[in-house]
Amino acid sequence: MSIKNIYIHIPFCANLCDYCDFFKLRSKIINHNIFIENIIKELLMYKQKINYNLESIYIGGGTPLSIGAKNIEKLLSYFTNNYNLLNTEITIEINPVGNDEIINFLKFSKINRISTGIQSFNPKLLETLGRKIIPDNKFLLKLSKIKKNINYDLIFFIPGQNIKMINNDITKILKYNPKHLSYYSLTLKNNLFSKHIENKYTSENHDNMFKHIINYLNNNNYKQYEISSFSQKEKYNSIHNSNYWSGNNYLGIGPGAWGTLNNIRYSNYKNLKKYYSKIKLKKTPISFSEKITFKKKHNEYVFLNLRKNKGLNLIEFKNIFGYNLIDKNRNLILKYKKYFLITNKYINLNILGMLKYNTIVSEFFI
Ligand code: SF4
Repeated sequence: MSIKNIYIHIPFCANLCDYCDFFKLRSKIINHNIFIENIIKELLMYKQKINYNLESIYIGGGTPLSIGAKNIEKLLSYFTNNYNLLNTEITIEINPVGNDEIINFLKFSKINRISTGIQSFNPKLLETLGRKIIPDNKFLLKLSKIKKNINYDLIFFIPGQNIKMINNDITKILKYNPKHLSYYSLTLKNNLFSKHIENKYTSENHDNMFKHIINYLNNNNYKQYEISSFSQKEKYNSIHNSNYWSGNNYLGIGPGAWGTLNNIRYSNYKNLKKYYSKIKLKKTPISFSEKITFKKKHNEYVFLNLRKNKGLNLIEFKNIFGYNLIDKNRNLILKYKKYFLITNKYINLNILGMLKYNTIVSEFFI
């Protein structure tokens, strides 16, 4: 088995935000040294079973640096001592706050991509999200001077948000000259937070906001390469996420992490005690696994590949699934013809199609 991508979940945060759906725990409650030792033990369990040709390592969370830069350095040393990382994209997720120790760590470590969760600069919108982290402009200025691929995450369609507020957020972020931007639409999941804000949902039209963001960023030389992702140049596109959208296998490490190996999707225990106890027994801490059926693989392939501006590779699709997607879906293609661009090799959604992404894509499911 060969693996190009590793995701490591570090589920700790100093404060927990209401809108956040990731698996997270308060960072104060654990011993950070013991935690990182267990992560390395889990990595060692997979060391002999897999051939690594590492194109990307993604350290996400949570707030990975909440366990301390020294522990992240220990994790990075594990990789540098065992693998050739010369061409490996190494990403860490951070919050837009921190001290000079964090800036120096980000500057001098092996990490070459930094993904910063801003979401918005508007205090009222952050309050609506229940997000406790207010972006610190001094920190962001220092961060912007680090010569690495820096991404900023923003969110639109927050209740109460309007185009003027979006313009303010984009104007502020562009001052830091980011190489990459991710602009997500807030999705209201079926949780307490969504129930709490549903009734206050008076935002301007979602599609207008989305079109506005795409045009604004295009006019400022950010090219959209995936439904939520924009970069200044192709070389700054996220390698890790691009592999994920192509449906590639990846190793998921850490409590609550998901992974896909050899047609099996799995997730690790979200319970820290259980996670540790499995590792103590030298067993992989997997709490759930399922075979990826033909149907699931097909639908995920369509779902993920149509997110990309480049679109779905029709030749690759035929090689994997044994039929021509266009021939089999003539009626659907006709029905949605104004939303697609089709060449001999690719089918992709145009901007109008992206606005109807969920509806269109689900009709191609089997
Ligand atoms: S800091 Fe990030 S990961 Fe942690 S709770 Fe807030 S949004 Fe979620």
